[in-house]
Amino acid sequence: MNCVIDIKSLALGTHSQEFKIGKEFFESFGGGDVIDAILDVNVDVTKSSGWIKVDCNITGEVVVECDRCLAELRLPVDISAPFTVKFSSVSMEDEDVEYGDDVIVLGPSEGELDMSQTIYDYVMTNIPLKKVHAEGECDPVMLEKMKEILR
Ligand SMILES: [Zn+2]
Repeated sequence: MNCVIDIKSLALGTHSQEFKIGKEFFESFGGGDVIDAILDVNVDVTKSSGWIKVDCNITGEVVVECDRCLAELRLPVDISAPFTVKFSSVSMEDEDVEYGDDVIVLGPSEGELDMSQTIYDYVMTNIPLKKVHAEGECDPVMLEKMKEILR
């Protein structure tokens, strides 16, 4: 599963692209804590002569293991990730680029923008450190089983 934008062949202006991301995407990165995922990625790419503005919206849910009961815990995902791509041949000062966004620098010969790593990082950062169901919503069967194991 590739989230690649063919930047070279894009005409100047704004273009929208969509990707679907599932479990396999996270598995290709080694998985981490994600055991399942259903994510829609909407990308608006605005191409200018020296830089490209990317507005990436990731929505859906990821499934992780609850730290307390080990049952599936569904986490809603709604991430807005704007960033700027600039070409290393163009000086940043020459262009009207909004600072503060994440900036990805591409070499002049690179015609493709692979968004996979960026999307993965954003989703993983969005997962809370403490992954537990809300109080009282843990799986009672699983909790009982764990009690027995710990006994
Ligand atoms: Zn739980």
